[in-house]
Formats: sequence, C-alpha cells, structure tokens
Amino acid sequence: MATARETARPPAATAAHPSFDVERVRQDFPILQERIHGRPLVYFDNAATSQKPRAVIEAERRFYENLCANVHRGVHWLSEHATQAYEDTRIKLQRFLNAADSREIIFVRGTTEAINLVASAYGRKNIQAGDEIIISGMEHHSNIVPWQMLCEEKGAYLKVAPVLDSGELDFEGFERLLNTRTRFVAMNHVSNVLGTINPAKRIVELAHQWNVPVLLDGAQAAPHLKVDVRALDCDFYTVSGHKLFAPTGIGALYGKTKWLEAMPPYQGGGDMIASVTFEKTTYNTIPYKFEAGTPNIAGTLGFSAAIDYLNDLKFESFAPYEHDLLVYATEAISRLDGVRIIGTAKEKAAVISFVMDNIHPHDVGTILDREGIAVRTGHHCAQPLMDRFNVPATTRASMAFYNTFEEVDALVKGIQGVKEFLG
Ligand SMILES: *Cc1c(COP(=O)(O)O)cnc(C)c1O
Repeated sequence: MATARETARPPAATAAHPSFDVERVRQDFPILQERIHGRPLVYFDNAATSQKPRAVIEAERRFYENLCANVHRGVHWLSEHATQAYEDTRIKLQRFLNAADSREIIFVRGTTEAINLVASAYGRKNIQAGDEIIISGMEHHSNIVPWQMLCEEKGAYLKVAPVLDSGELDFEGFERLLNTRTRFVAMNHVSNVLGTINPAKRIVELAHQWNVPVLLDGAQAAPHLKVDVRALDCDFYTVSGHKLFAPTGIGALYGKTKWLEAMPPYQGGGDMIASVTFEKTTYNTIPYKFEAGTPNIAGTLGFSAAIDYLNDLKFESFAPYEHDLLVYATEAISRLDGVRIIGTAKEKAAVISFVMDNIHPHDVGTILDREGIAVRTGHHCAQPLMDRFNVPATTRASMAFYNTFEEVDALVKGIQGVKEFLG
C-alpha cells in the first residue's frame, strides 16, 4: 500500500507553473486561513460552492456602505450609479462568456433558476404532447426535474442519453435518441460528480443537424474551463456565481437573442414591463423581460469583482495547475487499496468521486472533517447517476486553483486514517 510520501509528484509540478503562485493566491481568500477542529482548513468541496476572495466580499460590502439603491428606477445619483454598476456586470459577463450581445445575459439566482426559466418560458411555448426532450444520465437534479415537470404538463417525453462505465457520455447512445420528435437537448458541460468534460461542441453540432436547440449546464464548467458560447454555438448556457468565487444567490443565463425575444416572460412584476393597464400589459425588451422584481444587486457587484479576479488570474495560468493537481490526486487515490474512483473519463475537470470497500461515504466525510478536511458525501444531487454506478453515495473531493499538493497529501493521509479507523 502506497503512502502519501511515496506517491510520485508529477515532475516539477509547481515549477512548471512559474506564473502561478498558489501561496500568494491563497492570501486573497480569508477563509483559507481558518482552522477547523484545530487543524488548518483543507477545502475540497468546491463543486458545492467555492470560497470568495477578499475583493468579492468587499464589493458586496461597498454596495451596502456606499451605493445602496434600487436599479432602473431612480433619477437620483445613487440609483444611477447602482444601475451603472449592475449593467457593467452584464457587459463583463457577456465578455466572460463571449456572448455576442449583453442583452443575451439574464441575471438569475443560479443555474437552477436559469434552467427553470428556460424550461418554463421556452418550454411553455414550444413543447407539445408527444415531443421529446433529451438529457443525459449524468445530470444534476436541477437539469432533470424542470424538464420532467414540463414533460408531465405537456405530455412530452424525457429521453436519457446513457453514460459509459468510464463516466463519459455514450455519444452514439445520444445520437440514437435524436429523431424528428426531438425538440430540446439539455446537458451538463462538466459533471459535478464525475468531473467528466462533455464534448459540448459535438453535442450542439449534432443536435443542430436536427434543428434542435441545446442548453448547456455550465455550473461546473465555468470555474474550470474558458467558456466561449459563440464557439460552442449553444442556444442557452447557465452559470452559478457562487461556484465561480462570487456570492450566493446570483448567476447568469445566456440565451441567443432569437430565442429570448420569442420567449414569453418567466415571472411577472416590476421591471419586466413596458406598460401596464388592467386590460393589457406590454413587456419590456430583453434582458429586462426576464428580470422581474428587484434583483440581487449586491450579489451582482460581487459577481463583477469575481470576474475581474478570474480575468486577472487568467485561465491559461491556473487551469494547467489545477490539471496537475487532479492528475496528482488521481494517481495517489487510485493507489490506495479498497478505494475506487468513480469517473475516469479522459477529459476531466478537477473533481474526484470515490467509494471505499465496506465503508459508507458519510463516515468517510465525518472522519475527514475531524482532520479539518472538507469533502462532500452523498448523492450530489444526482441520484440517477448513483444508480447507474450501483452506489448509494460517493465521497467527492473537488478542487480549485487555491488548493495545494500538500492538501492532496493530507487528503490521502486522511483516507488512510479512515481505513485504519474503520477498515
Ligand atoms: C451546482 C450545480 C447546479 C445547481 O446550481 P445552483 O447554483 O445550486 O442553482 C446545477 N448543475 C450542476 C452541474 C451543478 O454543479
């Protein structure tokens, strides 16, 4: 049995990224200095939510201290400046995702709300009895349930593209599902459980050959990959701010103008209207048509700071570092006896799910917690995927650019400790 010390680090893992100074980056995240149960925090639950750099925390605070006003309403100084900051964030997101137009960016609470918006607004108008919607076997519940609800309401059918033993999408299985009744495809870009990076561009290309629009759930992709919605040519794309180092309760939906303009509103209320009488209401233009009510303005400004932070850090700089962390952790964990990694796709983001012989993931998580190591245990909001791999739950270690090789060593040592304690 290999110990953490014997597991070979990839040659010059850190030296290979001279531009990426992880120790300096860690200084930007106040919570990483915390101690948990008397131990330094080792945070490996980034797929559930990421930690926030000081700049994000301060941007939210600055809103409440210096800029607090409602948006799109007042002519007074505060409201105008709050509106400006809110709309600037939309432009930042447009550039971040490489959308063609800032009106294609809708602020939402997160990926869940974004998918519900599309299922409800696009679905209500375009899905009819007998139609088919395709998802995959590795979806998060938030990319399953809204489509199920829509299918139930309309008498449509949900089809599920299978997943291979490696955790990769069975692309041919997906291809076989497409037919003249297919009206929509909604798929994960990166799996939150398996880490699999799906061939998003190929999925979109194939669906478009059948004239079928595609939504990509990017909640897990955007923190790890440079997303380019125009290169992907997807019709909708969703991100959750809180997984992108921004506050909770803010996210974005990207949608092509042609779809957004044709879609009915999702919710009714203030800000989404052009004029209201008791006889008839006319709706505002996009994106405001989909932003009823007072939005999460503070969260938006935090989101703006998070995007600035990521742009400064540069994907080209942290993505290779993260990849080396993944390779290092995968090698070390696969060497442990009685431990099996679920999800071994060739293309993966820095997410590792594993199961241990005769030990329940809940116990693994509890014992690791006593060492200050935060991992996620359970079904990860993907129960059908657990069924696919015949496991009730997994333990998941999900990484971000602020994690270190030493933390991976601590995790491996912690897993060995679990075996000694319970094995
Ligand atoms: C987290 C997650 C969601 C849900 O995002 P919320 O921010 O909770 O709305 C959906 N899909 C994937 C792949 C996720 O990881």
